[in-house]
Amino acid sequence: MSEIYDVIILGAGPAGLAAGLYAGRSRLNVLIIEKGQDGGQIAITDEIENYPGQIVEGESGPSLIARMTEQAEKFGAKRVSDMIKEVELEGEVKVLKSEKNEYRGKNVIIATGAHARPIGCKGEGQFRGKGVSYCATCDANFFEDFEVYVVGGGDSAVEEAMYLTKFARKVTIIHRRDELRAAKSIQEKAFKNPKLFFMWDSVVEELEGDDILQAMYVKNVKTGEVTKVEADPEDGMFGLFGFIGTVPNTKIFEGIIDMDERGYIKTDADMHTNIPGVYAAGDVRVKSLRQVVTAAADGAIAAVQVERSMSDYF
Ligand SMILES: Cc1cc2nc3c(=O)[nH]c(=O)nc-3n(C[C@H](O)[C@H](O)[C@H](O)COP(=O)(O)OP(=O)(O)OC[C@H]3O[C@@H](n4cnc5c(N)ncnc54)[C@H](O)[C@@H]3O)c2cc1C
Repeated sequence: MSEIYDVIILGAGPAGLAAGLYAGRSRLNVLIIEKGQDGGQIAITDEIENYPGQIVEGESGPSLIARMTEQAEKFGAKRVSDMIKEVELEGEVKVLKSEKNEYRGKNVIIATGAHARPIGCKGEGQFRGKGVSYCATCDANFFEDFEVYVVGGGDSAVEEAMYLTKFARKVTIIHRRDELRAAKSIQEKAFKNPKLFFMWDSVVEELEGDDILQAMYVKNVKTGEVTKVEADPEDGMFGLFGFIGTVPNTKIFEGIIDMDERGYIKTDADMHTNIPGVYAAGDVRVKSLRQVVTAAADGAIAAVQVERSMSDYF
């Protein structure tokens, strides 16, 4: 029979690492399980400006997350690299199963975050990794001196588009509305960037190419006019990046935990789900602001709730 942890934290993004830090400092026996790289979504972000107390100039997602990881480990959070595929959450001991292992805990904090929402155009799957990407930090250098298009209009889309201008010859933001949703400070920088252009009121309908992305059909939602955008013949291809929000990583909890219609986990203000001993923190839960600072705060609250539930003090 495997060890029974006081709390198992699923996911090592900002929410999971903050929960690990608080649980470790409370002397709980804590295990963090992460399927990929530490840091979740922020690990693929080139620049972060809005986490209080971060280095003000030039802090990257990976550098911020490296310090968060070190801090959680310093206070004793154990770590394992594994992907959980099945859960049994009812009862006093919760069981999390991967392909080869089973982990047992008295409490579980779900901090599995979210992943990029697909653009939703025809041919998207075919050109993924062959022109279509959802991560500027990962793929920008493949587009050195090429033309690149970015779908979206929020903070992430505009910030990532500006990052892409360091590599691409020209970056065009395709946005379904006639104004951006991004914070005003981000917009000010974007409108001053000489390599950044805009296609307003537009959506990408279909992608085309022989193996790599070479053309796309873009529809103006106001006029209904469809334009064929083609790669410069000298380039032979272009890049298309999607930053239109996220989808929660909650498939393994479907039918087990209460969720909203989009699959985000419902919690109260103290991160309790509908199942005793099971908490959700960060982007994975129903909330109005999905950022590093709110994810970390959720993780801290969840860990403190676990401690209180196990302590005679409260
Ligand atoms: C391009 C981009 C730019 C951004 N820029 C900013 C910014 O400048 N400032 C800001 O505050 N926020 C920014 N954000 C948002 C921020 O990254 C998220 O709000 C934050 O990362 C959420 O943290 P989280 O821990 O809840 O989830 P995530 O970061 O999504 O981490 C979840 C972790 O859980 C793991 N996991 C999932 N399922 C399993 C499983 N079954 N088994 C094991 N592990 C699992 C994942 O691998 C992942 O590492 C940005 C996001 C993106 C995509």
